Amino acid sequence: METENKSPLESYEKALKNASEKAGVRRDVTEMLLKPKRAIELNIPLERDDGSIEIVHGYRVQHQNARGPYKGGLRYHPDVNEDEMRALAAWMTIKCAVADIPFGGAKGGLGIDPHKLSDRELQRLTRAFVQALGDNIGPSTDIPAPDVNTNAQIMAWAADEYQRLNKHNSRANACFTGKPVALGGSLGREQATGRGGLMVLSEYLRRSGKEPRETTVAVQGFGNVGATFARLAYAAGFKVIAVSDSRGGVFHATGLDIEKLAEIRRKAGHLADNVCYPQLGVTEAGQREESCDKISNADLLLLDADILVPAALESQITADNAGDVRAKAIMELANGPITAGADAILKEKGITLIPDVLANSGGVIVSYLEWTQNLNNLYWREEAVNAELERKIIAAANAVFGIAEKEGATLREAAYILAVRRLSEALLLSGRLPA
Ligand code: NAD
Repeated sequence: METENKSPLESYEKALKNASEKAGVRRDVTEMLLKPKRAIELNIPLERDDGSIEIVHGYRVQHQNARGPYKGGLRYHPDVNEDEMRALAAWMTIKCAVADIPFGGAKGGLGIDPHKLSDRELQRLTRAFVQALGDNIGPSTDIPAPDVNTNAQIMAWAADEYQRLNKHNSRANACFTGKPVALGGSLGREQATGRGGLMVLSEYLRRSGKEPRETTVAVQGFGNVGATFARLAYAAGFKVIAVSDSRGGVFHATGLDIEKLAEIRRKAGHLADNVCYPQLGVTEAGQREESCDKISNADLLLLDADILVPAALESQITADNAGDVRAKAIMELANGPITAGADAILKEKGITLIPDVLANSGGVIVSYLEWTQNLNNLYWREEAVNAELERKIIAAANAVFGIAEKEGATLREAAYILAVRRLSEALLLSGRLPA
């Protein structure tokens, strides 16, 4: 059997070419969207606390800015590589176009495991990253945000460094989003990706006539996105039957007590391994049960759940395991958790797929709101932020669902069709491509 190329970049290229053909956009538009406008490679010397120097390799890939400044996360992970960064940057371009916010797409990352660094080392590294990027980032050029293994604290150091280097720019604080609220971050930003995902899922279920309390959900990944989504889904009455982090997870057929699990994670820093999980299960009648089962990440993906939510890393469902997936629908909260080969198998099996470029766009939508608040020095109540998030993400969902119905496309195809049409219009109207 031929082994599948699991490259996220190849998944993006296939999805883009397919949608461009269906959308009827010009070939030069597709070509522009296949490749990034710029890919910056970085080698950053990190001074460890013991005085030794380690060279950290990284990237900032700027994919497309026809609709507005580049926008995209910073990731700290040992597996960071150029191919992945290119795919993640391109997905941001598509996502911002689907969400109809005035940004292009970018992504950056450093190939390092931040868990092995002290806070002081992490701060030095983050400041060095900002110095190395220099004028390549800025509030009207490229606006980074948190991603895997980066958070509000890292954005705070990054924003401080950028402001230190750009003292005369009164807009400098708008260069990073996902900052702590005390430093100009937006209320609601930290929960925005998970919250937006729940809004999209609720709209999907409303259209299918299903209620949360009769819907089982399995969530892979219990970080910012996965844990927020799981907690909000639990609070909304969904039965969250499994959650996991990189060390594995827990399962209970009638639902887990997600607040208890979030508490474990808060204390231990992860879902905790090699301990049992007493009294986390909830029976149908809502009584406590004695125990839950442990479940591996591989098995979680194959659970018989109504909705499977990959919220960890890319390429989790591949041609190797897609045939064994039993969920009725999958909502991608991670970026690119399903490879192109798996996509085709899931389509064949009739499993509905709510794509990342729609489902996880809540984060960048509220980053956009943070940026506008910073530029205007006017700060909104959390209710107002959440209401605007809902207005924008539901408009995007309705546009995607509408195209899927009208043009007989899958939801991923529909999202890409919507995006490439909007991007084509921007490229031609701006004169970047001759009309
Ligand atoms: P995070 O670092 O907060 O959490 C990642 C989680 O995934 C952790 O619980 C980690 O233990 C788990 N994990 C790592 N490897 C795993 C594996 N092999 N199997 C199972 N779990 C594993 O990161 P995050 O911000 O929650 O991002 C998660 C995903 O969501 C990424 O794909 C990211 O690109 C995407 N995303 C994030 C945002 C955002 O606002 N943070 C927005 C859009 C998309």
